[in-house]
Amino acid sequence: VYAHLAAIHRRQGRPDQAAELQALSGLPEADSRLTFTVASATDPTTGLPIGPRRITEVVPGTVYALSGFDFAELYFVVSRDRRQLIAIDAGTRPDTVKAAYEALRARVPGLPAPTTVLITHAHFDHIGGRSFFERLAPRPTFYARQNYAVELAVQADGPPNPALRRPPAPAGPPPTPPAPFRPDVLIDRRTDLAIGGTRIELVPIRGGETVDAMLVHLPDLGVMFVGDFAMVLLGSPYRDEGNLDGLFEAIDEVARRNPKILLHGHAALTQTFGAASLLVRLEAPLAWLRDQTVAGIRRGAERGQLQQANLIAPGVLQDPELQLPYLLFRESVINRIYDQRVGPWQPDLAGVDVLTQADRGALLVDYLGVTEPRLVAAVQKLTADGRYELAATALEWAAPRYPRSAALQDAQRFVYQKLTEKYQSVNIFKFMLYAAKAGEVLGPVGAAR
Ligand SMILES: [Zn+2]
Repeated sequence: VYAHLAAIHRRQGRPDQAAELQALSGLPEADSRLTFTVASATDPTTGLPIGPRRITEVVPGTVYALSGFDFAELYFVVSRDRRQLIAIDAGTRPDTVKAAYEALRARVPGLPAPTTVLITHAHFDHIGGRSFFERLAPRPTFYARQNYAVELAVQADGPPNPALRRPPAPAGPPPTPPAPFRPDVLIDRRTDLAIGGTRIELVPIRGGETVDAMLVHLPDLGVMFVGDFAMVLLGSPYRDEGNLDGLFEAIDEVARRNPKILLHGHAALTQTFGAASLLVRLEAPLAWLRDQTVAGIRRGAERGQLQQANLIAPGVLQDPELQLPYLLFRESVINRIYDQRVGPWQPDLAGVDVLTQADRGALLVDYLGVTEPRLVAAVQKLTADGRYELAATALEWAAPRYPRSAALQDAQRFVYQKLTEKYQSVNIFKFMLYAAKAGEVLGPVGAAR
């Protein structure tokens, strides 16, 4: 939006205002073909999206949410006796967690030192910054689920996330790799704690995302930290995780305690699912979707057919509050159910052959005679029709056959930019992946000057 306002000012001969708005957009001027309405930026060192920085006092003087410092949302709770600081999760990187903690210290005079770290689940974006806490003296006590190592193994054994960049190694001797995650206290059942006079209930759940999820409930404040149990992609799409029934069980656990405020592991989730009642109302439509997907699998439907069938559960159309949340979950619910029930051979013959992208490129170029100009023309027509995925697929297959083609490189960049734009606010993993494929580094919105 800033970029388009900049273009208007530029056209009307006001270059100063145009430059200022362009800087606010975080986009280079050449990319005025695109419209980004989310405030997320991609971190140039990691490729992870980060929103605008903000400290929110969720419960005055007691519960603080720190957004935009780290990929994950960071939370701190001042204990009732005001002598202890409880951190919920340990973020993605030690430097960003440190920056968040220091910003909070500057904001809240007399903030006590962290004494406890409660881990909602052992995903890299919730334990990756733990060394910041581990190096404090005295070292805070870490609490996590007893089966945290199961989740660490799921992450370690999967493929790399192609959207993530490895930060360049700093000069000097190579840094010592972080010590393996070793929580001090393992939670295997519902547990009541009192830390500095603050009552805390820890509730192990299966949840929708990882097997090692834990709810952190502060009953006296009506606040519950829920980690990523309601993550709309039901876990990382690169990993064998995600559990729809676990999500339903966890929603029931949350609803039984009826907290006023749900605080999720990411700001966007809190924005959408800050009320437990909304999650409760989503259960029936998502169960309907699961049943439709299973019925489709039994009929031998292709995954793409189920995705394109526009499955809308009864009641969703009549309830405006449910429409966006339902759609945020829909694609991933179908994908997870399909993956969990269908083996490597699929009805559309996917997985039956052993062909590579290069084989498919050979089909197009060597056998069907697709020349570079033909490919460019086809991609232009596909993008004009809004069929960006199909254009991207054709380019993944055939573009490597024309490695020196500037026209194809430009077309590929544009297709992935349009896909980044399309999924910017509905699918964070597609946003990251397509931004990385486009070679796009999105600057922070509104951070100019
Ligand atoms: Zn997360």
